[in-house]
Amino acid sequence: MINISLLGASGSVGESCLKVIDRFPDKLKLLNCSIHSNLKKGLEIITKYSPEYLVITDSNVDRGFLGTKKSNTIILYGDSFLKEIVSFNEIDIVVTAIVGAIGIHPTISAIQANKKIGIANKETLVTFGPYIKSLLKQSKSELIPVDSEHNALFQLINHKKKENINCITLTASGGSFRDFPIEDLKNVTVEQALKHPTWKMGPKITIDSASLVNKSLEVIEAHFLFDMPYEKIEIVIHPESIVHGIVENKDGSVEMYASHPDMIFPVAHSIFYPNPTPEILIERKPASFKNLTFKEVDYKRYPALPLAIQSGKMGGTAPCIYNAANEVAVELFLKQEIKFLEITEIIEKTLNKIPISYPESLEEFLEIDSLARKTAKIRKES
Ligand code: NDP
Ligand code: MG
Repeated sequence: MINISLLGASGSVGESCLKVIDRFPDKLKLLNCSIHSNLKKGLEIITKYSPEYLVITDSNVDRGFLGTKKSNTIILYGDSFLKEIVSFNEIDIVVTAIVGAIGIHPTISAIQANKKIGIANKETLVTFGPYIKSLLKQSKSELIPVDSEHNALFQLINHKKKENINCITLTASGGSFRDFPIEDLKNVTVEQALKHPTWKMGPKITIDSASLVNKSLEVIEAHFLFDMPYEKIEIVIHPESIVHGIVENKDGSVEMYASHPDMIFPVAHSIFYPNPTPEILIERKPASFKNLTFKEVDYKRYPALPLAIQSGKMGGTAPCIYNAANEVAVELFLKQEIKFLEITEIIEKTLNKIPISYPESLEEFLEIDSLARKTAKIRKES
């Protein structure tokens, strides 16, 4: 039995993970998990899976709601418990499906407890990349990417010698506005932005896909996961979202990893790794992969991408500032307080206002993350 700790069980990746558990009930056990505020989902989870512990991280929830339900699950309130549940001896894998850089604290605990981590929570790696890499050096913990492109690349690169690779490519669907006239982007609505053409995901990452910030974060994520220089990481628009990662070898061959756009594949892979995933029945005939098309990214449509590559190359706290400003901006956009194009403007302005530094300690990174959030919120020019 593989015992799973699932952080963010009430979200979209959380749901994919629960589907994988449903598919292999004799092999996988949800030992503990967390939700933030979705108590209804929390109730469904404790009723169906009876995890030993459910951590609820939002301090404003109605504590009476789950307390009155009959269940064997122990309910713990407060994010400090995340660090504990990921570290239990019985846990074989921690799946980090929380959204945002807030995922850093349990990730650190899981690394310190030498756990295998199925990492979906890209903001954490982007923000604290250098710190996480230094922690991993002192641990037996391993990060298995859950993000579909990185999981594809992980599988393609596995056992390959780096010097034989020319470059790696992440595919991007292009998000909700890929076919909109550029001049119309200034007036798009939240509702339009939330209509992703191929993937069903949480609201934040769906907005990130529309602005290409998601792919931008993924370039930085790939840099840290695969130790690849930015010059060797490419992006291509692939509207069908069937091919997820591409490796171009020095011998001239190009290898692509394809699967239907469903997060159950990378989630299952990360859980069963290093063993192969047992059969998941889903349509997979190559003939169903119709019309695979690829086209170059138009930087004018997606100015967030060059900004991210520049931040990644600067290193230090630049990706941290980029991510923090984006988290603030997306929240403002979802609340309809800013326009869609202002998301990238806020990221750029925040990057311009805070000098880049190269800290080693977590505290220093956290200080910059917090400063960037405060700076991003101030929208009037001083
Ligand atoms: P969702 O918004 O669907 O889910 C987010 C999860 O995080 C929910 O369980 C939510 O709880 C919880 N959460 C929200 N705020 C906090 C907080 N402050 N502290 C602790 N937990 C919190 O997001 P997704 O599942 O789409 O994405 C999760 C992560 O995975 C992101 O980093 C995303 O970039 C990444 N990812 C997602 C993919 C996808 O297909 N969705 C693909 C690849 C990567 P609640 O709902 O109870 O409030
Ligand atoms: Mg992805």
